[in-house]
Order: sequence, then C-alpha cells, then structure tokens
Amino acid sequence: MRTLFRSPVLTVLTILLLPAVAAAQTLTPTEQKIRAWVAGHHEDQIAVLEKLVNQPSGTLNMAGVKAAGMIFKAELDALGFASRWIDMPAGMHRGGHLVAERKARIQNESAKRLLLIGHFDTVFEGEGQKFVRADSTARGAGTVDMKGGDVVMLYALKALHASGVIEQMDITVLITGDEEATGRPLDVARRDLIDAAKRSDYALSFEGGSYSQASISRRGSSSWRLTVTGRQGHSAGIFNNTYGAIYETARILNEFRERLVGEPGLTFNPGFIAGGTEAVADTSGYGYTVSGKTNIISPITHVRGDLRFITEAQKERARAVMREIVAKHLPGTQAQIAFEDSYPAMPLTAGGEFLIAQYDTVSRALGYPAIRAQDATTRGAGDVSFVAPYVAGIDGLGALGGGGHSPNEFVHLPTLGMQTARAAVLMLRLAGIRR
Ligand SMILES: [Zn+2]
Repeated sequence: MRTLFRSPVLTVLTILLLPAVAAAQTLTPTEQKIRAWVAGHHEDQIAVLEKLVNQPSGTLNMAGVKAAGMIFKAELDALGFASRWIDMPAGMHRGGHLVAERKARIQNESAKRLLLIGHFDTVFEGEGQKFVRADSTARGAGTVDMKGGDVVMLYALKALHASGVIEQMDITVLITGDEEATGRPLDVARRDLIDAAKRSDYALSFEGGSYSQASISRRGSSSWRLTVTGRQGHSAGIFNNTYGAIYETARILNEFRERLVGEPGLTFNPGFIAGGTEAVADTSGYGYTVSGKTNIISPITHVRGDLRFITEAQKERARAVMREIVAKHLPGTQAQIAFEDSYPAMPLTAGGEFLIAQYDTVSRALGYPAIRAQDATTRGAGDVSFVAPYVAGIDGLGALGGGGHSPNEFVHLPTLGMQTARAAVLMLRLAGIRR
C-alpha cells in the first residue's frame, strides 16, 4: 500500500483533488437556487412554525402530538412523500410517530439514503405556551425544541423540491412524538426509528442548532428512583432509634455528590424529592402530594433523578458507586435505588467526523461560519443516539434560540434561513448531487 503514495502518484492525486475541493467551497447553480428559494420563503416558514407551536403537544398529550403530526404530514404529502402515522400501543400513553418516505426516481450510484429526525412533543403539558412574535424572536413551547427544527427540515425539503432535485434523493423522515419522555418499553417506542436507520446511510437530526457547532457525539442518559423509609415516631426521639427517611435521603444524595462529582462526562441530577409523613404519587408519577408535621419523624421519601454518561462503562461504574452508598443505612432507615435505561451513549466515529467536515464545507460555501464538533457534555441526549449503532449521524441542525425546557423558550427567527439553507445543501451533497 505504501508505494501508492510515491510522489508521482501523489502529484496526480493532488491535481485531481484540488479542483474538487475548491468547487466544494463554492455553490453550484442548483445550490444557489436553493439559497434564494429559502430566503424568499422566510415568512411562510414562520407561519408553519406558528401553526405547529399553537397546537399544544406536551409528551403526554397524545391527541395534541398527533394533531401536530397531521399538520406536518400534510406538508410532506404535498412534496410527494408517502407518509403514515404509527400509533403506539394504548398502554404506553404516547402519541406515536410520523414516518414519511421518498424513493429516488433516478438511481444515482453515489447516492446515499438520508434519515431526517425530529420530534413533535414538547416538555410543557396542557395548553403550553402560545406562539408570540416580538421583533426577531418568537416565544412559545417548542419554538426551538424542536418545532423550530422540524420547520428547518421541512423548508430544506421544500427547497430541494422546488429546485427539482428531490426526485433523485432517497429520504426517510421520522418524527417521534415522545422524545422528551420516551415511551416504554424502549424497544417498541424506538423500533420504527431503528428500522429506518437500518435502511439509511446517514442520519441528520434537527435539535437546536448553533452558528458554529454541531454534534457528532452525545452523552447517554438514564433515570433513577430512590425510595427511603424510616420508622415514624415523635420528633423528640430522632437520633435515638431512627434518623427518619429525610436525614437518610440527605446522606445518600450528599454522598453521591462527594463521591462522583468531577468525573469527566458524568452528571447526575436529583430532579425532585417528595417526603414527610405521607408522599402520594399522582398517575403521571411526576407529581406528589406531600403532608407531614414538624413533630413527626418522616417515614418516607421518594427521589427521582437522571444520570448522564459518555460511555456505557462509565454508566455502570457510576451505578455501582450509587448502589454502594444506598446500601449503607443510618440507624432505623432503609433505602433502595432502581435504574432505568433511556438513551444510549453516541460515541465519536469516523462517519460522524465525515458528516461534520461536510457540514463545515457547506456552511462556508454559503458564507456562514466554519463548523466544529460540540463538546458532548454541553448538551442533553437525543433520538439520534438510538440510531448511532446503525448509521453515522449528526445533530444540532435545527433552529437557534434558548430557554429550552423552561417557560421562557424562544427561537431567533432570522437564523431559520441559515439553518435551512445549510441543511438543504448538506442533504444535496450527501445524496451525491453536484449540479
Ligand atoms: Zn428536543
């Protein structure tokens, strides 16, 4: 193999490659058309986003998730996609997913099959927050996470359709209805996404974006439930034969922090705690009614939290330490911890490096900043992680904004065009089309 790289061959290679590299940094006529089309449809794109945001779709609002999906489905059907809604089994209490496919009419040898990933659900339940536009931003649940990303994807597809190139592309769109709280069992909830990944070469995910970064590795996440009991009694007896459930819970959480904080890539967050004389969960399991008295030693606490990690080995090590801490008890108390897997870790791969290099070239060709890989510890987990074992993926192609998972969520509207043009040209080049 070594002889291949002797200088005459290298010179020929250099001559052959240089024009291709230079051409990649400029836009083809079709790519220029795409950029202009996107810029000319900015207000239409915002109107679709407004419609989607004003359809409340908290993860547990099954009818709302499906209604948001139907708005999107109609848009994809108009582009020639064959789409269907996949309901989840009733016991899972999730709205289901949209799958839409478009097969290439003209077979292109270097064509790669693309999987585009989004989600319709939002963290906020009930009515959520309505779309409110103010100057260059719009507020509302899902504006950036990730109905904003969904319309970046949609308008990239519309631009490819308007430019007449979509006919040559093999594209599967899979938009889940339960990204923010994945339904169980996971193998049912993510079966369609994983099946689509097995039929694809690259996965592009449209979670919140950035001017100069995208994600090619993401941390995995799992959840834990800690249940602590103590002997109920008169408060005057505390420290005699029992410390009660609340002191034992405090000891456990403090030792988690003392033993595990500082390991690179690892975080664990107790999201809520309920304890006292009584702590009764509601049907969602995320709300509790608590009562107690200052003169009663607490007999019960419940804590639920998450655990994020960069490798499966790190997850297992952290769980072992947490179990060990829970197994030691203050006098007169008992405690148990249970873990549940959620997102697997998405490690760095050569395929991911290729995708980010392509995205960087596209961004610069469009006159936008260079792109580098985002540090995996600075963002949460995502659906792209489920497909990581099957297909090279990139995430963070969606809208720019802030306040995700809070009532102050917003999208920065002028950046929709940048993200849409970058996504469309990336998709075109990955599909092997250069004209
Ligand atoms: Zn999201």
